[in-house]
Amino acid sequence: MPKVQLVTILGATGTIGVNTLDVISQHPNRFKVYALTANKNVDALFNQCQQFNPSYAVMLDEQSAEQLSLKLKQAGSETEVLCGMTALEFVSSHEKVDAVMAAIVGSAGLRPAIAAAKAGKRILLANKETLVMAGSIFMEAVEEGGAMLLPIDSEHNAIFQVMPHDKSKSLISCGVKKILLTASGGPFRKASDEVLDRVTVKQALNHPNWVMGPKITIDSATLMNKGLEVIEAHWLFNASAEQIEVVVHPQSVIHSMVEFADGSVLAQLGNPDMRTPIAYALGYPERLQSGVSSLDLFKIARFDFEPPDTKKFPCLRLAFDALKAGGNAAAIMNAANEVAVEAFINEKISFKDIPVLIETVLENSQVVAATDLEMLIASDQEARVAAKLWVNCAV
Ligand code: NAD
Ligand code: MG
Repeated sequence: MPKVQLVTILGATGTIGVNTLDVISQHPNRFKVYALTANKNVDALFNQCQQFNPSYAVMLDEQSAEQLSLKLKQAGSETEVLCGMTALEFVSSHEKVDAVMAAIVGSAGLRPAIAAAKAGKRILLANKETLVMAGSIFMEAVEEGGAMLLPIDSEHNAIFQVMPHDKSKSLISCGVKKILLTASGGPFRKASDEVLDRVTVKQALNHPNWVMGPKITIDSATLMNKGLEVIEAHWLFNASAEQIEVVVHPQSVIHSMVEFADGSVLAQLGNPDMRTPIAYALGYPERLQSGVSSLDLFKIARFDFEPPDTKKFPCLRLAFDALKAGGNAAAIMNAANEVAVEAFINEKISFKDIPVLIETVLENSQVVAATDLEMLIASDQEARVAAKLWVNCAV
């Protein structure tokens, strides 16, 4: 019987957090929840605390933490409530914790993920923005802390499953020719230019294959999600921009592929359900039940592939450019994108404004080498100010 693993779930009330708790609840003898965290959703975190009885619950927002603490005390719970970024870092690096699910959305997930890396935890990384913003620093922290990094993003989890694991070698010396990163193409894959002019928030939030949080759903509609994933793949697998090819595969059943020097292409397939990569990363190297149904190939019947249209979806080109530019370029792009997505959701800018805003911010920013975390956070903040200015001028 393996030892019970203590798990911290950052962003527990989100889509990934809820799926993680679902898998954990299927293995009560293997995993116990040590800490659950959320931004402001008191009721959702309260219910999760009642069900999983963690040692700590952390809310970023102070008032929400006070409300949660009161509710839990009234319910006779022994869960201790903390608040703020330092508390998120504390529950990510606590000596009792074995594994950390990093599933906060956006750049807010960076510091706790780095804390988990430095403390040598098993990190289940869903928060791709961490690698986009500060890939070199995060990967160094993983190395120095002796952490085990397991990707949760379905594409990267697929690549991890089929990729040879020899970190001392380059991709070429491992016999890898390129990574084929699959993309659903989002809800507007076939939309005309005129349709894209009038995209509503509701339409953009309606992903054809996946149920996800609002930010990543909009990113999927603009193809920025795939752009962020190209940068994520670069850091996780030490792949250059030229070694990563995006392939639109509307069925979202092949989660990604790796092509080898001999012409072999290995793929990982499965129903589009995040419990598969979550269970894989929780159990690695063992395979665990996840609750995901069997793949019905006869029902799917066919697989389609097409190249991405970067004229229609410029965000993907912007991400490749930012990767090639290096330094703080991806952090600037990521921050501008977060502001743009929020402004679109709040109906302050149009769907087509999103890439225009990001490109304008990038053009007006200075791209310099990424020396340390503070410098990258400063670039992030400056890009946010510039992006918000753009939004205010557009309104
Ligand atoms: P979500 O919006 O559903 O949930 C986000 C979680 O983060 C919530 O628990 C929220 O309370 C918390 N949070 C939000 N802002 C915060 C802040 N400032 N400080 C602290 N906590 C905060 O998002 P999601 O869809 O679960 O995605 C989470 C991450 O996983 C994202 O980085 C996303 O790109 C990545 N991801 C998600 C999926 C998916 O299928 N949902 C797939 C691949 C990768
Ligand atoms: Mg993905």
